[in-house]
Amino acid sequence: MIWNETIECMNREDMRKLQGIRLRRVVEHVYHNSSFYRKKMQELGLTPNDIQTIDDIVKLPFTVKQDLRDNYPFGLMAVPMSEIVRLHASSGTTGKPIVVGYTRKDLSIWAEVVSRCLTAYGFSKNDAVQVSYGYGLFTGGLGLHGGVENIGGTVIPMSSGNTQKQIQLMHDFGAKGLACTPSYALYLAETIRKSGVSLDEFQLRIGVFGAEPWTENMRKELEEKLNIKAYDIYGLTEICGPGVGGECECQNGTHLWEDHFFPEIVDPVTLQPVEPGQQGELVLTTLTKEGMPMIRYRTRDLTTLNYEKCDCGRTAVRMGRIMGRSDDMLIIRGVNVFPSQVESVILEMPEFEAQYLIVVDRVNNTDTFQIQVEVRPEYYTDEMNKLLALKKKIANRIQSVIGLQPDIKIVEPCTIERSMGKAKHVIDNRKLV
Ligand code: ADP
Ligand code: ZN
Repeated sequence: MIWNETIECMNREDMRKLQGIRLRRVVEHVYHNSSFYRKKMQELGLTPNDIQTIDDIVKLPFTVKQDLRDNYPFGLMAVPMSEIVRLHASSGTTGKPIVVGYTRKDLSIWAEVVSRCLTAYGFSKNDAVQVSYGYGLFTGGLGLHGGVENIGGTVIPMSSGNTQKQIQLMHDFGAKGLACTPSYALYLAETIRKSGVSLDEFQLRIGVFGAEPWTENMRKELEEKLNIKAYDIYGLTEICGPGVGGECECQNGTHLWEDHFFPEIVDPVTLQPVEPGQQGELVLTTLTKEGMPMIRYRTRDLTTLNYEKCDCGRTAVRMGRIMGRSDDMLIIRGVNVFPSQVESVILEMPEFEAQYLIVVDRVNNTDTFQIQVEVRPEYYTDEMNKLLALKKKIANRIQSVIGLQPDIKIVEPCTIERSMGKAKHVIDNRKLV
């Protein structure tokens, strides 16, 4: 099923026309209603007249996370606060959180795009979806919530945490869908397995996973362990929250709802567009947002775009898996390392649980690179030489993928901290020095 066929299957030419009309409108809006954007445009000698078609977007200046911090809390609102009906904020592990504001129309567009995702995953008004993303300032919980209500489904507003209860209600209320981070889904799966209850007693069929990078191997793991189809949902607070894009039944790329969020891929260093299909940083422009529009927002997420029509019938552009954020990239002894590469290797090996922690430090001016992993009980042995062989096997695979030999530390089962929200996979002690 397709929620909004006219838009999701629109031909490219019509889509670009629509994007152009909407871009003109949002540029007018910010030029007249946001001193921040007006100033940035004036610095480049631009007026709204310079923006006629969607191709003109490259003339506009970029916006970055620091701009949101510098204008904390409400400096980027482009409407009076009396029009703002909701605020959200991103966790912001360092410094001030970033705050976003929504008008009533912004909220209804958010519900619309999440509805497109949910319908693409296979939900309808007959289904119950357990929302186990956190509720509150984090956009995950309320974002999914609005979408489920909008398609007329039954929302179970569980929020994160309280794992035993999660499982009980998922079972008793017959949830067909579970929406949470992939790492929390894995933890739920482990907990169900330990409880001894058979998955056959659940109605669960579909997982709605996002808010953190995850790999194809993680998808396989979750689909097997929970006996579901696992789909990606992408989004970020600055743009609206989850629902900027979602996968379809083909599981071959995340459709971005480009009538509302215009995507570009640029080289993160030169900021020039990359060749079609090449990897780079995703830049998003909100084409319809009123409260706090984002013009050419640099997401820091590294990915690719594919404009070919999808087998599902949608023409909406498809985004490849997010490799990671450019600011998540570790540089260890001069080598670029993404946690997702490590994850991919670990999940390919049946001997290990899908849990890991990368610990980086600096000893005698040299970076140390340790990966902590848990051996699955069926592979665990107290024979030293077998464990050593296992360590060597995984270390060599990682070396072949990233070109750096890690020190592997096998830890007791269940010692790597399980996450209820976004998992923390890296401890970089070098930053403390
Ligand atoms: P914070 O910046 O505090 O983490 P957000 O919830 O706004 O708060 O995080 C958005 C970011 O989460 C995205 O920019 C991206 O890096 C990551 N993310 C969200 N959804 C996905 C997804 N489906 N796949 C990979 N990464 C994702
Ligand atoms: Zn598709």
